[in-house]
Amino acid sequence: MFDRIKGGKQRKNSIRVTRSSLIYQKHVEQARQVILGEVHAWASRIGVTYNNVRVKNQSRRWGSCSSLGNLNFNFRILFLSPTLREYIIIHELCHLKELNHSRRFWTLVAQYYPAYDEAERELRLLEQTTRLEPLAIVAYVQNYQCTLCAPECQPKP
Ligand SMILES: [Zn+2]
Repeated sequence: MFDRIKGGKQRKNSIRVTRSSLIYQKHVEQARQVILGEVHAWASRIGVTYNNVRVKNQSRRWGSCSSLGNLNFNFRILFLSPTLREYIIIHELCHLKELNHSRRFWTLVAQYYPAYDEAERELRLLEQTTRLEPLAIVAYVQNYQCTLCAPECQPKP
């Protein structure tokens, strides 16, 4: 299931694209390690198996899951709070059981991430605020007052 980012239309602005791809090159390995570790851990908790995991530089999706069990993640999720990244990973892994956004899907997500509604709202706000510029995401997350979870993801004074 493709999870499109609303308002994340790519502008034909070469500076933006170049900057973004430099940031991508610099962070893709780290993103891959973090994401693969979290996908592995959550897949066994949820009880799903997957095929390939790819980490991509895409400006319109946080993640996607195909009927062949392949998962794609946007490298930008490296810059999110751990809680939001976790939500995106759980969301995509749950698509391995329910490849749609039906009530059954959300019930499944809620088993592993009860505050999914708030996470969805937070992601939409993030998309509008940052237009998915990696550096803007970093700045946003640093000022971020997490409404979802424990004090560990509150900004340090
Ligand atoms: Zn989805």
